[in-house]
Amino acid sequence: MGTGSSGSRRTSTGKPRREISVLRLGHRPGRDPRLTTHLALAARALGARRMYLNPPDPDLAQRLARVGRRWGGDFEVVPAPDWRRVVRDHRGTVVHLTMYGEPIDRAVPRLRRGGDLLFVVGGAKVPPEIYRLAGANVAVGAQPHSEVAALAVALDRLGGLPTARAFRGAERRIVPTVRGKRVVPTRRP
Ligand code: SAM
Repeated sequence: MGTGSSGSRRTSTGKPRREISVLRLGHRPGRDPRLTTHLALAARALGARRMYLNPPDPDLAQRLARVGRRWGGDFEVVPAPDWRRVVRDHRGTVVHLTMYGEPIDRAVPRLRRGGDLLFVVGGAKVPPEIYRLAGANVAVGAQPHSEVAALAVALDRLGGLPTARAFRGAERRIVPTVRGKRVVPTRRP
C-alpha cells in the first residue's frame, strides 16, 4: 500500500480532497452477504463516503450502520434499485474496475485531476453497457481476482488511508500496539 498518510491528499478535518463513492453491482441478497459486507467494510475503512448497493439489501445496510455507530464516521450504504441513475447523476468521474481495462498506473494521474470518483465494481457478471457508460475502465493487473482487492488498491492509489478524524463519533477506538489488543471507550455510555 502507498503512503496513505500523505497530508496533501486530505483536508485538515481528515476528509479526502475528493469524495469517493462505490457502486456495487450484482449483489445477491441472502446468497452471498459476506463478500459484499467485506466490500463495504473495505470501502468504509479506506476512505469512501458511501456504497450504493444494487440490488438493495436492508440487512446489509443495517449491519454497516451498526459498524458505524461502534467505530465512527459517516459511511452509509445507499439502496440503488436503479444503478444507471447513480452513474448518470454522478458529478465527477465514473471508474469501472475491470481486469480488461486500462492499467491503473496509467489512469491514476488523469483520475487525480477528475474531481469526485464513483468506483463501479461487479459480481460474477456486469451489464455490458457499463463499459460504455463509465468514464474510465481500469484494471488492477490484467488477471481476474476480487472486487475487494481491486477496490482496496484503487482507494489506496487515489485516496489514501483516512486519518482518525474521519471516524469521529465512535464508541470505541483502537490503540495501536505492537502486540495484543487494546481498545478504549471514547465516551461515557
Ligand atoms: N470478469 C470480471 C472483470 O471484468 O473484472 C471478473 C469478475 S470478478 C469475480 C468481480 C469484480 O471484481 C469485477 O466486476 C471487477 O469489478 C473486480 N475485478 C476482478 N479482477 C479485477 C482486476 N484485475 N482489475 C480490476 N477489477 C477487478
